[in-house]
Amino acid sequence: MRHSRHPGPSPMKEMARIKLAGFGVALFVSGLVLLLYQALSLRSALTADANVQADMIADNVSAALMFEDVRSAQEVLHSLRKVPYVESAAIYTTDGERFAAYARPGVPRGEMAEASPDHVKPAKHRLSFEDVFVAATIAQNGKPLGSVVVVATTQKMLDELLHYAAFIIGASLCALWIAFVVTTRMSARIAQAEKKLEYLASTDPLTGLPNRRAFYEQLEQRLQRGADTCSRAALILIDLDDFKTVNDTLGHGAGDELLKHVAIALRQSVRLADLVSRIGGDEFAVLVAIAKEKAEGIRTAERIARALARPFDLPRASIMASASLGVSVFPDDAADVASLVSSADIALYAAKGVGKNAAVEFHPSMTVEARRRARLDAQLRKAIETDALHLVYQPQFECRTGRLIGAEALVRWVHPVDGEISPTEFVPVAEDSDLIVALGHWVLRRACRDAARWNAEHSIDVHVAVNVSARQLRQPRFSEDVKAVLAESGLSPHLLELELTESQLMANMTAGVEAMRQLRAAGIRLSLDDFGTGYSSLSYLQAFPVNKLKIDRTFVNPLPRDGQPIVTAIISMAHSFGIAVVAEGVEEPAQLAWLDDAGCDIVQGYLTGRPMSLEGITDLFNSECEDSEPLT
Ligand code: C2E
Ligand code: CA
Ligand code: CA
Repeated sequence: MRHSRHPGPSPMKEMARIKLAGFGVALFVSGLVLLLYQALSLRSALTADANVQADMIADNVSAALMFEDVRSAQEVLHSLRKVPYVESAAIYTTDGERFAAYARPGVPRGEMAEASPDHVKPAKHRLSFEDVFVAATIAQNGKPLGSVVVVATTQKMLDELLHYAAFIIGASLCALWIAFVVTTRMSARIAQAEKKLEYLASTDPLTGLPNRRAFYEQLEQRLQRGADTCSRAALILIDLDDFKTVNDTLGHGAGDELLKHVAIALRQSVRLADLVSRIGGDEFAVLVAIAKEKAEGIRTAERIARALARPFDLPRASIMASASLGVSVFPDDAADVASLVSSADIALYAAKGVGKNAAVEFHPSMTVEARRRARLDAQLRKAIETDALHLVYQPQFECRTGRLIGAEALVRWVHPVDGEISPTEFVPVAEDSDLIVALGHWVLRRACRDAARWNAEHSIDVHVAVNVSARQLRQPRFSEDVKAVLAESGLSPHLLELELTESQLMANMTAGVEAMRQLRAAGIRLSLDDFGTGYSSLSYLQAFPVNKLKIDRTFVNPLPRDGQPIVTAIISMAHSFGIAVVAEGVEEPAQLAWLDDAGCDIVQGYLTGRPMSLEGITDLFNSECEDSEPLT
């Protein structure tokens, strides 16, 4: 899977080799210097010794020379045989005649240097390895009688130097060997560490898959190869559905476990040569080689989707997973890394829009869609800043009395070029970024201001319901912001109802519930919007501190012919928790009659009132004051 970034020998090894060579040269030079020093000191010691011998002989032969006693002079000279380095010696009279001589026995004459005064040289030739000639004057009472010349051989010194050199070479080789062993071990360790670093830098530690960086490097190389060999490849981006919920409800340990299982499942669902990587928190990427037709890309993605849409056994629970997948094929959809990734990303976005557990293939029209979204984002930002949005209000009636008890604020945007754009289109665009926070704040301020005014002017108690996105709720200061808006508008907290959707709450359970508690504590009402479309688990109801739930219109629509059991169950369950029920999307009188019978508390829909302008709803309050009776 991984590729090496250093094709040649590693720079560390090269360095170790250079260091070793340097060490060898240093050893050689220092050995040479030591040898030279040793030679010098040996030679000067030899000269000094020879001088001492010459002086001793000169002292001892002065009488013999004076009395011309050759025999005793010869005897004195003979004492030199105990001094092994003296090769020869001779005594000369002042006339330059040889008086007596000595030569070391056993040394062939030819090799012996003759002791003669002509050979005595001044001390400057210290570096030569020639034999040493020294002379001493023989004198009696200050009167010179002759001289003695001693020849010391350097043979022994050379032998000693040779030993010394052998020793130095031996020691150096030993040191070099040790250095070699140490550096090879060290470079082996360094190479190991380098490998480990490379592994860490390119691998996701949790799943062991290549990480984002490694994936992009590989993608680049494989696309290059694909372009060279004219072959196809499909990039599949995979995003786990509701991964945040797993983390929030079961903890990060369970989340990590699930990611590991998914990594294994992904690896098993493609060939060994295909590339699988974890490129982000719950995002994976797969690059598969395509043998024949382009459609193999989406077929592989669908196979992966099926492989992931199953329960995964984690240590403490079994989790039903699913994923959204976006596919883009090289070179059909894109010819370079950047556009291949971006088109797969666009396809992934479309897959998420389809709902959970979907694989979507990139289509060029999606780029148009993505561009439109980007444009909408920028224009919506501006529209919020310039107050170019407005609100409409849809009335909510109490079933039992027929009283108008509230109105849901719904945002509207009339685009200067495209005309009216549905909130189902631009709200999700805003939800993709922090833009929803600004949008939500604008809606909240406007709705609270309007509601404060209509309640004051008509002396009524009609609440306003405002839709809140999960991203808003996750803002750490959300409840403070709401309280500030209430204070600014003068609206009583009990006349503000915030509509939160179940699926959005599930996405961040702990943070959501905490914010809801704070809002409830401030007297603000909460309602669970689109109930039944999210997790549809009635048992979750207990977890949320809500006052109302709004049955989604997909459940209301088939009434009264179909779907009564589920609506009945929702109503009775909600009532048992003390939660009021609102039915939305009521379009037909028969639906209204059935809901009233089933004990539904509040209705909202085209039948009882379409979303209308502020003036429209104000008119409604006026007529409300006159007649108020049960709706059915
Ligand atoms: P929602 O909160 O479920 O709002 C109810 C939607 O159902 C509204 O669509 C409303 O016009 C529509 N509706 C009401 N009665 C009927 C009916 O009898 N039949 C049918 N078929 N539809 C009915 P609208 O205004 O287009 O809003 C769509 C969605 O946009 C809203 O769904 C809400 O999720 C979002 N939205 C609207 N305004 C805001 C807002 O200010 N903030 C946030 N975060 N989301 C908003
Ligand atoms: Ca709503
Ligand atoms: Ca709704």
